[in-house]
Amino acid sequence: MDPLKALADAERKPYWLDSPARPEPQPRLFGHTTADLVVVGGGFTGLWTALMAKERDPSLDVVLLEGRRIGWAATGRNGGFCMATLTHGLANGLERWPEEIDRLERMGVENLDEIERTLERHGIDCSFERTGELHVATEDWQLDGLNEHLDLISDLGLDYVPLDQEQVRAEVNSPTYLGGLWERSGCAMLDPARLAWGLREACLRLGVRVHERTPVRSLADDGTTITLRTPYGAVGARHVALGTGVFPPLLRRLKHFVVPVYDYALMTEPLTGAQLDTVGWRNRQGVGDSGNQFHYYRLTDDNRILWGGYDAVYYNGGLVKPEYDQRDETFVKLARHFYDTFPQLDGVRFTHRWGGVIDTCSRFSAFYGQAHGGRLAYAAGYTGMGVGATRFGANVMLDLLSGKPTDRTELRMVKEKPMPFPPEPVRSGVIQFTRWSIAQADQHQGRRNLWLRALDRMGLGFDS
Ligand SMILES: Cc1cc2nc3c(=O)[nH]c(=O)nc-3n(C[C@H](O)[C@H](O)[C@H](O)COP(=O)(O)OP(=O)(O)OC[C@H]3O[C@@H](n4cnc5c(N)ncnc54)[C@H](O)[C@@H]3O)c2cc1C
Repeated sequence: MDPLKALADAERKPYWLDSPARPEPQPRLFGHTTADLVVVGGGFTGLWTALMAKERDPSLDVVLLEGRRIGWAATGRNGGFCMATLTHGLANGLERWPEEIDRLERMGVENLDEIERTLERHGIDCSFERTGELHVATEDWQLDGLNEHLDLISDLGLDYVPLDQEQVRAEVNSPTYLGGLWERSGCAMLDPARLAWGLREACLRLGVRVHERTPVRSLADDGTTITLRTPYGAVGARHVALGTGVFPPLLRRLKHFVVPVYDYALMTEPLTGAQLDTVGWRNRQGVGDSGNQFHYYRLTDDNRILWGGYDAVYYNGGLVKPEYDQRDETFVKLARHFYDTFPQLDGVRFTHRWGGVIDTCSRFSAFYGQAHGGRLAYAAGYTGMGVGATRFGANVMLDLLSGKPTDRTELRMVKEKPMPFPPEPVRSGVIQFTRWSIAQADQHQGRRNLWLRALDRMGLGFDS
């Protein structure tokens, strides 16, 4: 189908947020107040932090301040792949923290298990389905990569099933697939906006005071109290947790470590039973292909297909702007790739198209830290894999603020920081050249040029 025709009626807004289940905003903060803990940011990081702070100590007075609406940013726009990995995948973790990888993998699975238990405990319905993820190869060089991955996995005793061409097509029927790997338990599919709203509800029930449309403008510290100023008020607190993602940071040092990378997605109309039968997909896994520029796709609870990824765009200057949420060039490309992958779905149209901004750091997995004498903690840099890992990041922040070492705070992964990005305009030049090199590698059987190999040796890169 002509992509332009297929996109003609697609709404320019995130599918998940375009829902009657979206709750009315909580009131703005007016006036001055105090709290034991202030959480800044109403995405997954902030919501998990506020919720778990109350679960750890119900007597704690917790305030959550969100500049716009709960879950409006990356949290409400993502693919909804809730993964166990805390390290942006096993290979990245193994390369950086080989001596910790067993622990990191175990903690990641425990984190995902705990997410599942929290949903049950608080009655949060976000269509959580622990289907796992299917990694598919669409070119021979990608098969080599999957086989290498399989060797590593077998050594670590993880639950992966290798699939040859026939087997992978029996799972999800695409003529482009050459083979695959089904990671069976390390990933769940969910509706991210409904998770965010459910966490908000749980926070409110436990007594967290949530203020939406309340951006924190500044932060001042008199040595015992940190005061956060908002347009019509202020909160003074002993402890502060920042879950502000990629947005202009309240702590200046963070701007060196995180860059905004835009990622885009489409949503189809619901498939009919007959259309779904042509694809199979009875086990409803999330699917990711294995190029450096990759697509991720999945079914929703009403059998639409979310189709996203491939282009990861850094706009020169590194700004976050509402107009960047739409990129027609990418939408057309994504639509074309969709029909290449599923020619049997020719005629299926798209109902939504949107983009969102990812907090990319040079090590691809979140980093953590403290400031103001240990009374402020932060977690950021999830680089496109934060749906599950934000809960771990929230736990790290609460551990750090408690002042007591834990299994989490003792990890090298938690103690170390990523390499900072160079300042602009060098930053834009380096990132655009790296993006170009990555696209070239995908067009030349995965062969990495000198630049990418140099970055690999330094443990640096660009990803989404
Ligand atoms: C298109 C897309 C697809 C993705 N797909 C996946 C996926 O399938 N799986 C996965 O694991 N990850 C995915 N991700 C990444 C994932 O969504 C993020 O890692 C995660 O949502 C990060 O949550 P967060 O709370 O840290 O940040 P955000 O969701 O960005 O929330 C930060 C919040 O802080 C608020 N804020 C910032 N500054 C202030 C301030 N000064 N005062 C008050 N509030 C402030 C913002 O308004 C915002 O609401 C995707 C991301 C995108 C954009």
